[in-house]
This record gives sequence, structure tokens and C-alpha cells, in this order.
Amino acid sequence: MKKDIHPNFGEAKVVCGCGNTFITGSVKKELRVDVCSKCHPFYTGQQRNAAVGGRIEKFNKRYGK
Ligand SMILES: [Zn+2]
Repeated sequence: MKKDIHPNFGEAKVVCGCGNTFITGSVKKELRVDVCSKCHPFYTGQQRNAAVGGRIEKFNKRYGK
């Protein structure tokens, strides 16, 4: 095995926009991301959509026919 094929590959500290940090493998030592598994739009978006849906429902009940 050649040891120098990936000389810079190692653990990288990932810093998310939400403040969460975790370790992953990368050639970089530090990474910055906008979303992680803890603040992924799939989860936050679901909650947001549920809230918006509730508002639209109230709006339609009040003004719609
Ligand atoms: Zn995050």
C-alpha cells in the first residue's frame, strides 16, 4: 500500500450555520455548511409548511367562500 496517495485526507470539523458541529472525512480540515442533519429543510420545512397550511386554512375560513 502506498501511504501518500491521499496525504491530506483525514478528519474534518464541519461547522453548520445552525451552530451544530460534527466530524467527517475530508481533505480539508474545516468545512462550513448551511444545513446539517439537525437543521435540514426536510425537517424544518415540514414544520414550517404545517404552520403555513394552518394559516391558509384560517385565511380561507375567514375570507374564502
Ligand atoms: Zn445545522
